[in-house]
Amino acid sequence: MLPFKLVYSDDYYLPIGAHVFPAEKYARVHHKLIETGVADASDFVTPHAAADEDVLLVHTPQYVHKLRTGTLSAREELEMEIPYSPELVRAFWLSAGGSILAADHALKEGAAISIGGGFHHAFPDHGEGFCMIHDVAIAIRRMQRDQKITRAMTVDCDVHQGNGTAFIFGGSRPPGAPLPSTGAPTLNPAHTRPSRNSQEPDVFTISLHQEHNYPAWKPHSSIDVNLPDETGDDDYLAWLDNALSSGLRMFEPDLLCYIAGADPYREDQLGGLSLTIEGLKRRDELVFRVAQARQIPVMVTLAGGYAIRLEDTVTIHFNTVVAAKEMFTVR
Ligand SMILES: [Zn+2]
Repeated sequence: MLPFKLVYSDDYYLPIGAHVFPAEKYARVHHKLIETGVADASDFVTPHAAADEDVLLVHTPQYVHKLRTGTLSAREELEMEIPYSPELVRAFWLSAGGSILAADHALKEGAAISIGGGFHHAFPDHGEGFCMIHDVAIAIRRMQRDQKITRAMTVDCDVHQGNGTAFIFGGSRPPGAPLPSTGAPTLNPAHTRPSRNSQEPDVFTISLHQEHNYPAWKPHSSIDVNLPDETGDDDYLAWLDNALSSGLRMFEPDLLCYIAGADPYREDQLGGLSLTIEGLKRRDELVFRVAQARQIPVMVTLAGGYAIRLEDTVTIHFNTVVAAKEMFTVR
């Protein structure tokens, strides 16, 4: 039995038809965990859909209404890049419920992993980049509302910048504002310094991502590490270590939300970094080691993964659970 819970439902499946997003990956990861004996049935807990009330902690009433009534404009649906359906709304509400449940379990048991979620490109008033609503932000706001936490940190290791996360938790830059041009990896902690008229943020956001990739407009995270194309394992891990140390020097979270994208993988169709499967597992280990050393509860969501071979994406997500098992099992 694992020393933490896995949150999963077969209904995490996204009904989007043939799509670069492999919606069957969640079931495949679940199957592999059972098949290999890494987890057994008792390790899994089943989520319920988030309530609209929870979703409204992050999203605008207008947007939630459009989703609930199927009245997105054609342009809004296009921007989401996945085909709207009421069933898809249900799947996203369930993934938000899964992230809430994972956060709850993480606070009780020190760690929890949802075999889904990580929809970090959703904004309060619109969805984009395969993301309808922002499950992680909803979970954080729900934990805060329930007074289970005050401060959270997001650590986003998807190959794409966590634009929704950055915008929700601190982005004050208007759309279209010019980007700083950074040719090399850059830490951008400037906006976390308390200014005269802003309070210290209650959510600290870290994003490590490929600079020359979607999204074009990258609202500032607390720390953005803009990685050059083809960054490999060792450089990536050094930057991650650096970002985590810097972040945790500036901010003490009650909950760490790790967004464990599989798409920094060198054979990803939508990514341009060069991490290996082993390097990605070392990445997971690093995040878990840091969280454990500081006794920060950690909740995990999977986010993106578009490897040429689906099995590689499944293995990378599976390895995140293996890494957590190795790290959190007391010997
Ligand atoms: Zn991604």
